[in-house]
Amino acid sequence: MAEGSVPGEKALAQRGAVRGWLAGVSDALVSVFFPAGCRICDRLLTGSSRVPICGDCLSSFVPAPGITCEICGRPLAGWSPKPEQTLLCPACVDKTYAFDRARSFAAYQGALVDAILLLKFEQIAPLGAWFAERLAEVVSGEGNVMAADVVVPVPLHRQRERERGYNQAALLSRPLAKRLHLPHKAVLLMRIRARPDKRILSLEERWESVRGAFATRPGSQVDNLRVLLVDDVLTTGATLDACARALRDAGAKSVLGLTVARAVRNPMPNSSEW
Ligand SMILES: [Zn+2]
Ligand SMILES: [Zn+2]
Repeated sequence: MAEGSVPGEKALAQRGAVRGWLAGVSDALVSVFFPAGCRICDRLLTGSSRVPICGDCLSSFVPAPGITCEICGRPLAGWSPKPEQTLLCPACVDKTYAFDRARSFAAYQGALVDAILLLKFEQIAPLGAWFAERLAEVVSGEGNVMAADVVVPVPLHRQRERERGYNQAALLSRPLAKRLHLPHKAVLLMRIRARPDKRILSLEERWESVRGAFATRPGSQVDNLRVLLVDDVLTTGATLDACARALRDAGAKSVLGLTVARAVRNPMPNSSEW
């Protein structure tokens, strides 16, 4: 490949840093001269927050109502548990998942769907930092159950990350690690098989597309660690499960999944009822 025709990773990173700096400068100028609207509802933004979403939209992000599975966090709408009964969804009764626990900040609906898209496709770092604060609150609210030694983002395939220029999960996991005073290991896990290009995958295809798709980087230290695995959305749990299997195989003591959003309609593996 001819030198200069394809920018190297270093050049890309430098270009990214310059772009980030310019974006920071222009953000500041724009907010002084042109009052901005909320990126979700267009209401005029007041205050000095760099999160481009208004207070009403931010406060509309709420957990799914009702009780949830103690292991995977799946909303269990309509369940009426007996006192003292451990709340486990059918998938967790069947020990479906390789992760020990999964928790999320809020239900994947309404304005949160738009906010996740902004994070995913526009790399809005202040929004990532805001979500990271919420995720840190989820972790501390769970006490020991979510205690971890290291924070790891769910990785994109190398090709996908190169095209996009960043991994949206790392926009969450990096500030979260900082907040929790834990090491952040952005390259401990890698996605070795890309997601199929097809946008809508059936439940079965979703599980199939991630099976064996992740591996730990050779030489990385995972032994006996409690890994906090971070992603933007938990839909079926298949991705977290596949990552957890790779981490477990490499000797991780436990794997805890943490996502900003949680699908409310949460299909069970091998079922069309949920
Ligand atoms: Zn708004
Ligand atoms: Zn469950």
